[in-house]
Amino acid sequence: MKKIVLIEFHQETNSFSKVPTTLREFESLALYYGEEVLSKGIKDYKKFQLAGFLKALERYGQHRFEAIPVLAAWATSGGPIQPDVYEHFHNYIIENIKKIGRIDAVYLSMHGAMGVQGLRDPESHLLGAIRKIVGDKIPIGVSYDLHANITAEKVNLCTFINAYHTNPHRDHFKVGYKAARLLMDTLDGTVQPTMAFLKMPLLKGGGMTIDFLKPMRRVFKILKRMEKRPGVLSVSNFMSHIWLDDEELGWSCIAVTDNNPALASALTEEIADLNWSVRDHKHPEPVSVEDAVQSLLRMKWRRNFGTAVFCDTSDIVAAGGPGENTHILNYLMHKAPELRAYVPLRDATEVQRVYELPIGQPVTLSLGGKLEKEYNKSIIFNGLLILKEETHFGKTAVVQGDNIFLVLTELPCPAFSPKFFSRLKLNLWKADIVVVKNLFPFRLLYALYNRKTFNIRTAGTTDLDVHNLNYKKIPRPIYPLDKIVHWRSSVSSKT
Ligand SMILES: [Zn+2]
Repeated sequence: MKKIVLIEFHQETNSFSKVPTTLREFESLALYYGEEVLSKGIKDYKKFQLAGFLKALERYGQHRFEAIPVLAAWATSGGPIQPDVYEHFHNYIIENIKKIGRIDAVYLSMHGAMGVQGLRDPESHLLGAIRKIVGDKIPIGVSYDLHANITAEKVNLCTFINAYHTNPHRDHFKVGYKAARLLMDTLDGTVQPTMAFLKMPLLKGGGMTIDFLKPMRRVFKILKRMEKRPGVLSVSNFMSHIWLDDEELGWSCIAVTDNNPALASALTEEIADLNWSVRDHKHPEPVSVEDAVQSLLRMKWRRNFGTAVFCDTSDIVAAGGPGENTHILNYLMHKAPELRAYVPLRDATEVQRVYELPIGQPVTLSLGGKLEKEYNKSIIFNGLLILKEETHFGKTAVVQGDNIFLVLTELPCPAFSPKFFSRLKLNLWKADIVVVKNLFPFRLLYALYNRKTFNIRTAGTTDLDVHNLNYKKIPRPIYPLDKIVHWRSSVSSKT
């Protein structure tokens, strides 16, 4: 049986965050070592890449291929990973790969925008160390998130790359499944993957990158059709995580063909042309919390038929924000006390303190301004402790102050699913406002309750406008920070 090593290692880094990612962030989300990946991890994460990979292996490779799981680790987005934490995972992976002996192929599922303090491009660092052990001839397949920052080194070190075609991401399983088929075909010798990579001087994020809305809907439809062309094995379009300050940051296009470098190159150029044609698409700018509340108060349907969702775009936990932004909470407390609001907020110190108290106890909390002092000032909140529970976000407590239900968490909480609130006995039908710290998945998951989404700009490390981000390392010129006539006029590409 041919042995395929499996590794899943995901974290999306926000370089502007001063809050480092620790082992705790992996432990609280998903962390499985060795055999645990198969016995527990796959059951807990049925829809993810490794589950898809194993399904394809079971269907097409039974008795021919053996999966050797090494690690499955996911952390929420956040600041750069602490060096000793990265070293721990890196060493664990390398030591365990060495123990396996003969290896026929490696599959890695990673985010592609991972950052580690003091180490540039950690995913290439890891791939390089794996390549050193297995040698140049062993195929290595890698699946990335479509917000990956693809670097030349990432491309050099592997045999093929594939990625999500959806944003909000819904095709994790499919991506793993496709990668498994491609890797098995490569091992069988029925295909010879040839990859082309094109880096664009383009940096856009936010509203325009949703796969089923304009302008990217058309682009992703064409990508789907491209994959049906003869000789095409996979195409990917990376719209980049705009909060990673890296010298190779920018949108990237990748095409994998069956031993046809010219076709692969042509496809990446075709994708780049499509991306360039939509770069100026206008989408609504985020509004201030004042404006959002004022428009909500003018809406007659308020509360009778659902809730409004306030997306705190400056503190998006799912993009690496710390989740301790007090701006919206402060405004609601003082200017709109009549609105019933559910507000998640990360404050490890205060949640630890109230966790010791009995339910029903009145509490005075000093919130925020502890991790990102330049963006958030500390505020005082008075209320009654009404619930305590351990969640994915560590110790969690609900404190009610009049109409505001503050959900305090130990770890950053994106609140991307209404289940988070309903599990804490907060009824979505009764709320006027639900605050989320997530950019994409909530738009689908709250569809039943959500009558209007307000994208709100406050202050923080996840501002959606690249003009407001304090980049120090990104390549220039880059659009829209600089004037560029055409992507071809300043471009690097490689086959
Ligand atoms: Zn993503």
